[in-house]
Amino acid sequence: MRVLKHLFAQNRRWSAKVKEQQPDFFLNLAKQQSPEYLWIGCSDSRVPANQLLELLPGEIFVHRNIANLVVHTDLNCLSVIQYAVDLLKVRHIIICGHYGCGGIKAALENKEHGLIDNWLLNIKDIYRYHQQQIDALTDETGKLNLLCELNVIEQVANVCHTTIVQNAWKNGQELAVHGWIYSIEDGILRDLNVCVTNVNELPHTHRMR
Ligand SMILES: [Zn+2]
Repeated sequence: MRVLKHLFAQNRRWSAKVKEQQPDFFLNLAKQQSPEYLWIGCSDSRVPANQLLELLPGEIFVHRNIANLVVHTDLNCLSVIQYAVDLLKVRHIIICGHYGCGGIKAALENKEHGLIDNWLLNIKDIYRYHQQQIDALTDETGKLNLLCELNVIEQVANVCHTTIVQNAWKNGQELAVHGWIYSIEDGILRDLNVCVTNVNELPHTHRMR
């Protein structure tokens, strides 16, 4: 019960397999990491960034939380973004949501779930901004999936509005912020085409000069 032997056994097998293909893989990786991408995704166990992008360790910097939110006062997420942008110099930040997200579903309901309801209030706000558009749909899955997409779009804006991203742009750093959504049902990623690459693409109210 305490040792989870099978996981250690799987780890040994995986390590041996990687070393068989590339003997110096871990030695090289131990010296440094220089990922090109920062992934901000949902904690959902069915949406693992490295696997669905077929990327190896070292290729993507990852932050995951329930419903892939970027909250302006979340020091954890902001620290990840700052480290990725200022020190790792990633060139792309990917906000990736997924259809059927449990966090988004819970935010659409009026049930109590405990502490997490406070976190989900961030999603309820997005629902409120787009209530007419969402309520115009008649089927529940359609509503849920629309809010999943709108949430990604909102989080892309939240990333762009941080002082971290705006200062990077001000300093001439090349940085693109992307909004994607993943379908658990077919394993396919879709681009929501809301990519932002400079301050001029932001609303006037949120540009810092
Ligand atoms: Zn989710």
